[in-house]
Amino acid sequence: MTDSPPFWQARRLDEMTTEEWESLCDGCGRCCLHKLREDETDTVLYTDVACRLLDTDSCRCSDYAGRQRKVPDCVRLTPAALADIDWLPPSCAYRLVAAGRPLPWWHPLVSGRPETVHEAGVSVRGRAISERRAGPLEHHIADWPGQMPAARKPRVRRQARDRSGPDGESR
Ligand code: SF4
Ligand code: SF4
Repeated sequence: MTDSPPFWQARRLDEMTTEEWESLCDGCGRCCLHKLREDETDTVLYTDVACRLLDTDSCRCSDYAGRQRKVPDCVRLTPAALADIDWLPPSCAYRLVAAGRPLPWWHPLVSGRPETVHEAGVSVRGRAISERRAGPLEHHIADWPGQMPAARKPRVRRQARDRSGPDGESR
């Protein structure tokens, strides 16, 4: 018997349930950084300035349910909207799945732990500044939010012994 593929490989984005769609988000927070657009070339310029609702430690929206009331230009991602969006970071799971690419090891759906997106250095934790404190966006242009992150592999700790016997002796 073969294992059935995970939902993000088995179904198209527009076939997923709401729960599956939401779980695809890796929690990196990169899409919640402000972007600028160059007038002449239409090029997207990324910044390290976070939307005022982004918790820059957890990298989650602090009011996800009320986000569009509080931040009217917050873009609601949908399968249909994805085709027109050119500013999602290359590591974004929605982009990867739409392109038929696998989810990386640090994605919580693969690792089984939400923390791996931070441990791998993929999220914005520790390097984004809130728009409440940042000042002019032009002073915060940064390349990294628009680049594929070189994810850090977690260090493997050697365990001295697997098990010990009732007398404390290793087996
Ligand atoms: S960039 Fe994509 S995966 Fe990361 S938080 Fe935004 S929607 Fe989620
Ligand atoms: S309102 Fe929330 S989801 Fe929208 S950009 Fe801001 S932090 Fe991100």
